[in-house]
Amino acid sequence: MTRDFVHETRPGRVVFAAGARHRLAAETERLGLRRLIVISTPEQAELAGELAAPLRDRVAARHPHAAMHVPAEVAAAAVARARETGADGCVAVGGGSAIGLAKAIARETGLPIVALPTTYAGSEMTPIWGVSEDGRKTTGRDPKVLPATVLYDPELTVTLPPALTITSGVNALAHSAEALYAPDCSPVTALVAAESVRALAGALPRLRDSPSNPDARADALYGAWLAGAALGSTTMSLHHQLCHILGGTFDLPHAQTHTAVLPHVLAVNLPHVPAALAALRSALGAADPAGHLFHLARDLGAEMSLKILGLPEDGLTAVIDQALASPYANPAPVTEAALRRILDGALTGRPPA
Ligand code: NAD
Repeated sequence: MTRDFVHETRPGRVVFAAGARHRLAAETERLGLRRLIVISTPEQAELAGELAAPLRDRVAARHPHAAMHVPAEVAAAAVARARETGADGCVAVGGGSAIGLAKAIARETGLPIVALPTTYAGSEMTPIWGVSEDGRKTTGRDPKVLPATVLYDPELTVTLPPALTITSGVNALAHSAEALYAPDCSPVTALVAAESVRALAGALPRLRDSPSNPDARADALYGAWLAGAALGSTTMSLHHQLCHILGGTFDLPHAQTHTAVLPHVLAVNLPHVPAALAALRSALGAADPAGHLFHLARDLGAEMSLKILGLPEDGLTAVIDQALASPYANPAPVTEAALRRILDGALTGRPPA
């Protein structure tokens, strides 16, 4: 077997423990931060306030204005607030939206981020930023936006609503699945991605039956951490491109969109990537990973139809045009026919063909 790869290790400290949130003051102290801006969505403002309380006068500002896909005006207001208050660091409490807004601040100001993730989206492990404007989402990579410290506390995920628990978990699975066939997947990243699939696929059915089961919450967050690391280390393909277009253009909800689209993209891609197919078969214990993930998500109560999630039927052409205009590296040829097959299936919510 020929071995030919590049593997880059990214800086960053991860603290993983039930109760890790109580180490926030010590971890910000360790970084020498004295004036923190605390970012969350409006829905998680109270939680962010509670978590930041031990920081006392080291909180320079609370900014609970994060919104899905980081609208440009929301990013500009947060950057202005960080500058006005003389912040020297950001604390992000929440999912990809809160962490995304902290990244927008870091990108402009270079401030370090301490993240306390509360979903399985994985943004805290990546140097990827995103901003949306005029129905388009722009993303890029900048090492400045990779959080300096991540506090993973499974107890913070117990309040995730059951439906979001499942779809956010499938969002993480999508990172690992696409990492396994990424052009820049190294042997280390392949191990990380496969272990993440194993942990997440094992945890999600247990969380459906018992949403506050601490061991299942810890396993899911562990899988999400690894999935975020795999995402941050590789270049994503067609699945992430389609979800990015669907989110940016139609404002579809992020985790739910990933869940509806993933099985259909895998059905098209996996026949072209035997090693990724074998890794997914082994991690999921299923001969047909695409069909297995569809049934797993649907049986756990996820909505599998993009139409019901808000995609108008006549929106398909706009998605196809955008996907063809700037194709990502992808194992299967990205043709109009392949895109129609994927999007028709996801629109109606039927199992992958
Ligand atoms: P989100 O952060 O928008 O959270 C969804 C909703 O759930 C919000 O209202 C939030 O307040 C609430 N919520 C979050 N955690 C909760 C909890 N534990 N209990 C109760 N409510 C909770 O959703 P998300 O799926 O985590 O993130 C999606 C965004 O992140 C998208 O914009 C996506 O593009 C971005 N993202 C970026 C990257 C990256 O590497 N840059 C990676 C993944 C996702």
